[in-house]
Amino acid sequence: MSSNLLASLASALGGGEVRIVDLTHTLSPDFPVIVMPPELGQSAPFRMERISRYDGGGPAWYWNNLSFGEHTGTHFDAPIHWYTGRDLPLNSVDTLPPADMIAPACVIDRSEQSAKDPDFLFTVSDVAHWEDQHGRIPERSWVLLRTDWSKKSGAAYANLQADGAHTPGPDAEVMRFLVEERGIIGLGTETIGTDAGQAGHFSPPYPAHHYLHGAGRYGLQCLTNLDQLPPTGSLIFAAPLKIQNGSGSPLRVLALVQD
Ligand code: MN
Repeated sequence: MSSNLLASLASALGGGEVRIVDLTHTLSPDFPVIVMPPELGQSAPFRMERISRYDGGGPAWYWNNLSFGEHTGTHFDAPIHWYTGRDLPLNSVDTLPPADMIAPACVIDRSEQSAKDPDFLFTVSDVAHWEDQHGRIPERSWVLLRTDWSKKSGAAYANLQADGAHTPGPDAEVMRFLVEERGIIGLGTETIGTDAGQAGHFSPPYPAHHYLHGAGRYGLQCLTNLDQLPPTGSLIFAAPLKIQNGSGSPLRVLALVQD
């Protein structure tokens, strides 16, 4: 490794040969939050209360108090979020290894399929098709599932019907495969969760959460701008807030891309 590797990176960033793509939605009270069945606990939406804005509360300064559920907006899921990861070491956002916060990504485009079918299920055959073109998914890579769901807003984004949410996501076998046979570091999605809207009916229920967090791996959801990433070669920076014993957090997700 060259001793001026970081200087080369800084130069490439400054010169535009490496560009930064922001994969983050703006955190606002309007951004949809996941809705659980009514008998279960609910996640609070993002709230922002002004302390002062160059006024009597603070004549020279502007600032706010914030509150939000850990799983609000573009956010990170830590292994402790799911019962399968509850007893793992370093399983909360304050303890997870910083080295895991920077990792390469494989972007799998299933936007056409998701446009035709809101219940589109991402399967092992989709991975096989992608690997035929781009090679085997390297260990410790993010798999980012592009569905273009981030282009929807409001009620269409959550797509909540009488029988629950209808949004695309992985089936159970592809999650077992990606975690156990590819050793991915995590799955990132454009939808409100890493799992499909109807994944509560899968076996096991919520297989992305089940397999990822049981193996000490991570989730990213409510990502955007995945259509600006190449299938391979991007580097993802995803560092959640350091909340004591936290199960997840909103965060800024950045991708470095060499054009
Ligand atoms: Mn989450």
